[in-house]
Amino acid sequence: MKIAVIGTGYVGLVTAACLADVGNRVVGIDIDADRIARLNAGECPIHEPGLPQLLADNLQAGRLSFTSDYAEGLDGAEIVLIAVGTPADEDGSADVKHVLAAARLIGRHLSGPAVIATKSTVPVGTTERVRAVLAEELAARGLKIPVWVASNPEFLKEGAAVQDFMKPDRIVIGTDGEEARQRLHALYAPFQRNHERIIHMGIREAEMTKYAANAMLATKISFINEVASLCERLGVDVEAVRLGIGADPRIGYHFIYPGLGFGGSCFPKDIRALISTAREANLTPAVLEAVATRNAEQRAAFIARGRIVGARETAARIFPPSWLNGGALQLVADPYEAAEGVSAIVLATEWRLYRAPDWGQLKAVMRHPIIFDGRNQYDPALLDELGFAYFGIGRRNRLAIRVRSEGLAACEAAEGEGMAS
Ligand code: NAD
Repeated sequence: MKIAVIGTGYVGLVTAACLADVGNRVVGIDIDADRIARLNAGECPIHEPGLPQLLADNLQAGRLSFTSDYAEGLDGAEIVLIAVGTPADEDGSADVKHVLAAARLIGRHLSGPAVIATKSTVPVGTTERVRAVLAEELAARGLKIPVWVASNPEFLKEGAAVQDFMKPDRIVIGTDGEEARQRLHALYAPFQRNHERIIHMGIREAEMTKYAANAMLATKISFINEVASLCERLGVDVEAVRLGIGADPRIGYHFIYPGLGFGGSCFPKDIRALISTAREANLTPAVLEAVATRNAEQRAAFIARGRIVGARETAARIFPPSWLNGGALQLVADPYEAAEGVSAIVLATEWRLYRAPDWGQLKAVMRHPIIFDGRNQYDPALLDELGFAYFGIGRRNRLAIRVRSEGLAACEAAEGEGMAS
């Protein structure tokens, strides 16, 4: 099949590479000419296991190419997947201007029959707007070609994107006619060899499914964080509670890890967008609002305990240059160097690198042996034994309780002297 993928960001690039890898001819189209040049040179712009190899293999085999020229990229395309960004607007609603701009350019350059599917996360009704824009542009060209619209939301997880695409839990296809349904079914047939993973539904249902899925996961996170806060006040270890409730298959172990709350490129914006959609529909989204509020409080409560020193590349993307240049944040490459002389360490990531640190080395270089574990990754009893004051989320540790109740100098020092994360 000949496929065009509009947008070569996280979703578009993974989609293009995986579809090419099963034998399709795929062109990735992006308005970012610099990105296109780097991709055609074989440079993988994102860190994603397996992706550089997929890119290299399929570029070399001639099944995958990239362009910023819509006419060239759409030439002969039977299926066009729109995978451009949908950032939050100022009021929290999803800004679909990139999706509509892409639809307009497709309408201006498409030359044959095709299914146009929105892969971007878009509010209910957006695919209908895509249909209207396409019709307008095709009519302006006096071109009468069959074009079918569809919604095909993406559920991949960053960090496991290739695997998620190749072996998906489910593939949601929202259509309103047989032609689009069959064409998209054929597109995804190679990814469901063991059993049926494709779930067909209407276009609006597919758009909503994506938001409902992310909102459900975020709700689980905010729920367990609230339980953890209560545990902390009652002297209960939330880790035991997590194990106790996760054993119930109706609840399950996924997404009930207490921590710093949800973040990343999708959950916060998607929750805000769904809240905005609900308000527009004159519904008070009480549950969703509580999920968002708890998440904001969770992070604020943890961060309020100190100052952060981070890892270099990520920090440079997140923090304003004035923080980095002014010395408020010191960036070092080695975790033990980051820990040197600090009053406490904050763990804010689940990266494997930090799962089993050399506690002896850490304790030797830290000024005060205090750990704020934002991922509930470490064993409080072990850290107690090693002489660390450990603050998890809803966890207990003898030294941490002493630090908190007696207001040890170490704790006060941590407030003003900086931490490592
Ligand atoms: P991204 O910001 O990484 O990439 C978007 C790309 O689209 C950019 O390269 C940009 O230059 C390009 N673009 C913008 N306008 C364009 C246009 N008119 N024509 C061609 N290219 C254009 O975004 P992403 O993370 O890949 O997300 C894309 C969509 O998928 C969003 O709606 C997002 O919510 C959704 N999604 C993301 C993830 C994820 O983990 N990142 C997972 C599932 C769904």
